[in-house]
Amino acid sequence: MDLDGRRESTNVEDRRGMSGGAKAGLGGGIMGIIIALVAMFMGGGDLGSVLGQMGQITMQPSTDNNGEPVEFTAEEQELAKFSKQILGGTEDIWAQIFEQQGLGEYKDPKMVLYSGSTSTACGQGQAAMGPFYCSGDQSLYLDLSFFMSMKQQLGADGDFSYAYVIAHEVGHHVEYLTGVLQQIHSKMARYGQGSAQANKESVRIELLADYLAGCWAHYDNKRFGSVQDGDLEEAIDCAQKIGDDYLQKRAQGYAMPESFTHGTSQQRMRWFKAGYQTGDVKRGINSAMQLDYSQL
Ligand SMILES: [Zn+2]
Repeated sequence: MDLDGRRESTNVEDRRGMSGGAKAGLGGGIMGIIIALVAMFMGGGDLGSVLGQMGQITMQPSTDNNGEPVEFTAEEQELAKFSKQILGGTEDIWAQIFEQQGLGEYKDPKMVLYSGSTSTACGQGQAAMGPFYCSGDQSLYLDLSFFMSMKQQLGADGDFSYAYVIAHEVGHHVEYLTGVLQQIHSKMARYGQGSAQANKESVRIELLADYLAGCWAHYDNKRFGSVQDGDLEEAIDCAQKIGDDYLQKRAQGYAMPESFTHGTSQQRMRWFKAGYQTGDVKRGINSAMQLDYSQL
């Protein structure tokens, strides 16, 4: 996949080298508290919420626990740049798709790069969970070590596979913007978290995200000719390798809590391909919503 000259997204928060959200919050220090107090007196609002917001704003990237700058390997820096370029590309492509397909206005999600664990509006994010999307703060959370372990443990090398993983998370954001995610989440809440029905609904969300990643690939390829020989197979191979049944077989030593709720490798491959072939968002949403339980 050729990304030469592509812009990097500016909607990226780099929290790498910071351990967890609590510590990050303390990074605000005395200046942060003064700023918070000033903000409180000027803008009203209670101290708790101002400090809470401050925790988000004052996180200082690229320092370790002693305030020393963190050294990133060339590979990590390359992956960070690549991720920012891919996200930037999804912003352009999805803005175009939303306009052309009458889906309203596309609002960019945020991407948070972190290492180990970090606080999110959806609770504490852990690298072991793999990349995920949190609708509470409309952010993608990405620990780049996931890509490294993808390489080592899944043997799924290649940049298009990484792009596909990011596009899948952006797919969840599109589900949020179109209201599909909220609809299914409230269904899941009614069924009860972890129940068989809720897990089936989760498969619906995941297959649709794969389909939407395919839509992205469809338009990205149209605009940039970005999909090279072997790329599609590579991404599909990756989808296959991170499918539930496959992961289940290889479960020893590889933790992915959501692994039972993503659909089988074959399903994921089929949905990604369908999105890539049609680029038709509404059609994908309708199909996903209409799948009956025996198909999930
Ligand atoms: Zn997902």
